[in-house]
Amino acid sequence: MSIKQEYEDYAARREALAKTHFGPIWLNPLDRYVHPFRIWGNVWYVDDSWVCVHLIDTGDGLLLIDSGNCGCTDMLVQAIWEAGFNPKDVKWIIHSHGHLDHIGGANFFKKMFGTKLYLGEPDARMFRERPWISAIYDAHSDLNELFVPDYEIKEGDVLTFGNTTMRFTLVPGHTDGCIAIFFDAHDGEETKRCGYYGGFGFNTLQKDYLIEIGDPEYKTRQTYLNSLAKVRNEKVEIFLGNHCINNDTLGRRQKQLDDPDGPNPFIDTEVRGKYLDEKRDALLEFMKDPKNN
Ligand SMILES: [Zn+2]
Repeated sequence: MSIKQEYEDYAARREALAKTHFGPIWLNPLDRYVHPFRIWGNVWYVDDSWVCVHLIDTGDGLLLIDSGNCGCTDMLVQAIWEAGFNPKDVKWIIHSHGHLDHIGGANFFKKMFGTKLYLGEPDARMFRERPWISAIYDAHSDLNELFVPDYEIKEGDVLTFGNTTMRFTLVPGHTDGCIAIFFDAHDGEETKRCGYYGGFGFNTLQKDYLIEIGDPEYKTRQTYLNSLAKVRNEKVEIFLGNHCINNDTLGRRQKQLDDPDGPNPFIDTEVRGKYLDEKRDALLEFMKDPKNN
């Protein structure tokens, strides 16, 4: 093939990608850069306008919740620097679940800085036995690869990282290995209870998808509902998003900027329960619709 033909093939692939649903996600990552900011106390936001990464300064190293989208590790590293931290101090990355848009920086941090990688046990098994569930192929680059976790999170784990103790519970549904996390953020002597829920998308509850992965009775949908109910009544003062849409991360950030001396918009005891209920109601509607069955 001539080099001109190779170039034309490349241009045609990009044009085709731009027309797909997630094409803009892969083609224009820099358009999504968000300047990092402090949510409250030792909890920072360091990812883009679509998928969340949170940084916790534990006093004895940095912890990330998720490592960003595949192909966006440069932006994550920049956001950590811009927040005033050094990426080499990231000791631990806790992954919400094993999909491509949450695991992008894992191998980079492990190889570069010796960061320890955490993932829910069912998704660690998925990486070994059914790696296609990760949708890694959807990153449109053969340069991405899955990682081997250093620790597989199990139901009820309580783990301490520096000054921060986290309680984990499995909330299967979006994937089998989605995790929820509860921990206290610190600001001097003051603490606030944070709650995180690792994966809400219905993309993995669609009829054809479930049939393909071996769930022809769509049992995963009930599993999803059970997971929401399991953690619904936890007391949480700060709800951290898995994607920005979960807690209107950027709307709350704008409120912080507009009224820096006002009440912290991230402190909100209602939003998490409301969002979990919205997802429950939306899924019940979805399940009633004959086209989904
Ligand atoms: Zn996902």
